[in-house]
Amino acid sequence: MFYFDPLYFIIMLPALLLAFFAQMKVKSAYATYTKVANSRGLTGLDAARVILPNEGLTGVQVEGTPGELTDHYDPRSKKLRLSAGVAQQPSVAALAIVAHEIGHALQDHHGYAPLKLRGAIVPAVTVSSWVAPALFFIGFLFGFTQLAWLGVIFFGVSVVFSLITLPVEFDASRRALKLLETYQLADGRELQGARSVLQAAALTYVAALAQTLLTLLYYVSILGRRRE
Ligand SMILES: [Zn+2]
Repeated sequence: MFYFDPLYFIIMLPALLLAFFAQMKVKSAYATYTKVANSRGLTGLDAARVILPNEGLTGVQVEGTPGELTDHYDPRSKKLRLSAGVAQQPSVAALAIVAHEIGHALQDHHGYAPLKLRGAIVPAVTVSSWVAPALFFIGFLFGFTQLAWLGVIFFGVSVVFSLITLPVEFDASRRALKLLETYQLADGRELQGARSVLQAAALTYVAALAQTLLTLLYYVSILGRRRE
């Protein structure tokens, strides 16, 4: 009965719909702006070669990564990994994405506190992602309510992670648009396009937070019902 709890689907539905909507928006914004060439004909790699040295990020290496929309900055190895669609296409989408990832490199370079905090809790998130449900379900099924609550507390780490991801991502996008403007890599209309791509991406992080918060709400609500 517990395994097919309709309450779970009722609680999670808004988050799932939002996640679906955000994914659609990202795909459509990327599909649109990957076809719009930027006026200076700069690929993502060209843009990185302009921005990185000018921002004092000479220690950041650029390398390729397989897949689409897989671009990321790795703070541990100081590597900016770009997908072929971003590195090699002279599109508005490529400019937006490369500038966003360099935004993360700048956060790392300047010791931006939320990025540091997010990096610091990654190991705890990895552990809590399997410890929290294990404690919760064992506690719940065998009637050890306190153990189940401990699972909920562990799950809080994931909530903090999703929460801290928001300022990190919004700040990287804000930096991205400033970089594109400062180095005159994009004109007014292209900046508008870049903003659309980045806003769609930001929505996926909001959806992830909603999903985590509602899962927490579900855990708390079924433990609360048990007590009655
Ligand atoms: Zn990001």
